[in-house]
Amino acid sequence: MKKENRAVIGVDLGGTKIATGMLDQDGGLLARSQKATAGLQSSKEVISTIVDTIEEVRGQHEIAGVGVASPGMVDSKNGVILNGVNLPDWDGISLQSELEKRLGISVRLINDANAAAWGEYVYGAGRGSQSMVYVTLSTGIGSGLVLDGRLFLGTSSFAGELGHTVIDPGGALCGCGQRGCWETYASGTAIARIANEAIAESAAASQMTTLAAAEGVPVSAKHVFQAAGMGDELANATLEQVIHYTGLGLANIIHSFNPDCIVIGGGVSRAGAAFFEPLLKKTEELVMEPYRGTCKIKPAELKDDVGIIGAAALFVDHQ
Ligand SMILES: [Zn+2]
Repeated sequence: MKKENRAVIGVDLGGTKIATGMLDQDGGLLARSQKATAGLQSSKEVISTIVDTIEEVRGQHEIAGVGVASPGMVDSKNGVILNGVNLPDWDGISLQSELEKRLGISVRLINDANAAAWGEYVYGAGRGSQSMVYVTLSTGIGSGLVLDGRLFLGTSSFAGELGHTVIDPGGALCGCGQRGCWETYASGTAIARIANEAIAESAAASQMTTLAAAEGVPVSAKHVFQAAGMGDELANATLEQVIHYTGLGLANIIHSFNPDCIVIGGGVSRAGAAFFEPLLKKTEELVMEPYRGTCKIKPAELKDDVGIIGAAALFVDHQ
């Protein structure tokens, strides 16, 4: 079968900027454009700005399609943004049909975590995998599912809100209104909270406090990893707790989807072997025996342009 040779475009839509890139079929970035959204007064202006970035990168190339990654809730089947993006008159906007009308090119709209999942699957740490789950541990927990080689979206295209699976019914209050969601224990925000609670309860001094004070900022996940690397006892105890909670969520994922690979994105993905090795060990302990050794846990490979790359890859002929 002849491989598609047209270029593809990805748009990463955010509350502060629109970043757009054109890729070849092998994932090489051919052109990139970025515009700030501050000052845009209406959805019409936002759409015109998106179109401008696309026209800028497109030049004279023939384009197979435009993928758009958006934060928040997205109805991918109907190409509608439901909510979660801080842009004027944006909730309920039929972005897919608006862009198709303006551009005369096929457009697909997906949630940013799904875009990242697909990007990692096609071009990143999930290359060669059959079933892969992508989990980003940042402010919250985002995730995307690629099952048997296909991006799995579910009935309303909301599949993969794994951060809101409950691991402790009596636990901390989550932004979603429930208690004990996984993201209240394993996100970057949660790591910082657990560390700060440990510091408040401990009589001993911790390198976490010293490192944060040197930067003039509160203790964050980064300081936990740094201090743990320096042999700080409290940081290591915090890290052990975080690895336990993270492993609980990953074991739930393995039992639910039987993936051959879980890719971890977000700030925590840079934590290195000191995090990934004990995390794999803990997760293996928590899954049933037949699952042991079936699933790799890897840090994400794609960096800041993961949204652009993943959205564009929706139109890549990847097999
Ligand atoms: Zn929740």
